[in-house]
Amino acid sequence: MEIKKGIAVSPGIGISKAMIIDSEDYLIPRRQIEFSQRMIEIQRVKNAFKASIDELAEMEVGKKGIEGEKIKDIFAVHLRFLRDKSLVKRITDLIRDEFVTAEFAVSTTMRDIAGHFAKVKDHYISERAADIYDIERRVLKHLLGRKKEDLGRLKDEVAVVARQLSPTETAGLNKQFVKGIATDAGGRTSHTAIVARSLGIPAVVALEDLTEHIEAGDTIIIDGNHGVVIVSPDEDTLKQYEKYAREFVELNEKLVLIREKPAVTRDGVKITMLGNIEFPEEASTVLDKGGEGIGLYRTEFLYLNRVEEPTEEEHYKAYADTVAVFGQRPVIIRTMDLGADKFTQSKRFMREPNPFLGLRSIRFCLRNLDMFKAQLRAILRASVLGEVKVMFPLITNLQELMQAKMILHDVMEDLDEASISYNRNMEIGIMIETPSAALTGASLARDVDFFSIGTNDLTQYTLAVDRGNELVSTLYSSVDPAVLRLIRTVIQDAQKGQIGLSVCGEMASEPEQVMLLLGMGVRTISLAPPMIPEVKQVIRSVTIEECNRIARKILTMNSERHISSFLRNATRKVLPEVF
Ligand code: PEP
Ligand code: MG
Repeated sequence: MEIKKGIAVSPGIGISKAMIIDSEDYLIPRRQIEFSQRMIEIQRVKNAFKASIDELAEMEVGKKGIEGEKIKDIFAVHLRFLRDKSLVKRITDLIRDEFVTAEFAVSTTMRDIAGHFAKVKDHYISERAADIYDIERRVLKHLLGRKKEDLGRLKDEVAVVARQLSPTETAGLNKQFVKGIATDAGGRTSHTAIVARSLGIPAVVALEDLTEHIEAGDTIIIDGNHGVVIVSPDEDTLKQYEKYAREFVELNEKLVLIREKPAVTRDGVKITMLGNIEFPEEASTVLDKGGEGIGLYRTEFLYLNRVEEPTEEEHYKAYADTVAVFGQRPVIIRTMDLGADKFTQSKRFMREPNPFLGLRSIRFCLRNLDMFKAQLRAILRASVLGEVKVMFPLITNLQELMQAKMILHDVMEDLDEASISYNRNMEIGIMIETPSAALTGASLARDVDFFSIGTNDLTQYTLAVDRGNELVSTLYSSVDPAVLRLIRTVIQDAQKGQIGLSVCGEMASEPEQVMLLLGMGVRTISLAPPMIPEVKQVIRSVTIEECNRIARKILTMNSERHISSFLRNATRKVLPEVF
């Protein structure tokens, strides 16, 4: 039995057999092999190369026409690489000399070569790095026996264990069979964690080297409440956890009963509870859990994992389907937040040195106007179907906001010319998720109808801590005094500017942080759908008077640790049965 501690990112207890995923896009863990196994691994490399060559040659034959010719050229380049004897020798030498697995040798060698290509100034040559990654994925696919494709077609229950899962991979998991997720990498507000929460799959991340201590088929307990993972538990531990898992399910079933009850504090203050979604299908979950609308629709998920970008019609359909669930209740559509850790298929190899500080989000949209305009047209067309609002992410200054609004107005004019109807008064909001936006809220407030505080990024950018990096995860906290001061400023600026205000970062999904938000003046929150009942329970158990007192006290504190423990105790006092 081995117990490992990580970060709890999605509640619940998952007990199942482990399925280990060596991700295509991330580092394959280094696993040492025995001396005697080297020839077997070398043969596996040769077989995988041969299978890749056969596969490509077969695909090449089928291509006809002009597009077909272009693809054939690409295949020809790939084939030349795959047939290069010195490449295979470099890989097999690594196995022979360093006793590593075939997967590790292939991945390390290819990435090294790709790295050299990427550094070359000549654009044509540097772009070949993408080809090398492509070839690496093809060979790995053969080595790994298409495990990834199996993920979508599971027939048995499993717990998914990986070094890293991308947000898209996580979104593709089938909740019916995937009982838990455990990864070496990741942080509490990484997009992978957010998606796991949305799906309601228990998850623990930042386990560092779990993948090196587990074999496929081992029994694993994933405790998403406490951030603990137990590999090959002994019988007593297993029994204890099975009991705990049953109790947790019962507690949740009880919580669902408060769905019909209003989110009102004990002293009668109404709090609006909206849901965060990534896909239109989640809209009905928000409703089931008692949500009153959508406060954050992360539309970039429409772009992930596909070669072709979605058409305006596909955007429109996704929005229309979501609006149909909510009728005249609000649906806030955030324009695509691509870049950083979320890439379209075509852009995934345009690596940037600091992607979270690079061409991300609204910056990416303002440089890709055709894409941006297609989305805005679809949002505007959907605006006549219900209470649609648009929201721009990652605004850092007024100029950026004005540019985005100008493009929206251009699109409105196009629709006017084509006599296509839309809601001319559709509300426009921005996410406040950079310190620069938080510090200039007073001026930004004059040009928008609402702010939504994205505490995930606001924390990341204020504290200079990558939200997905397990190495610095202990430094990441949304209740750090610096972050709280910025949040307070934003709330005050929204109040002074008489515009709407909500919080849609993960802070709103944290039962222990909700009292603080209410005490700071927040009356609308948007959160992960599975968390709505628990957070509503907290809201219904407190008075605003109490919350104000807590917020006043916390804003005088200057240690994150003290704030966290103060909040934990305060929540336990109001809801001892849940915490
Ligand atoms: C945030 O940054 O808080 C937010 C809600 O946006 P996302 O998590 O999608 O970056
Ligand atoms: Mg964000």
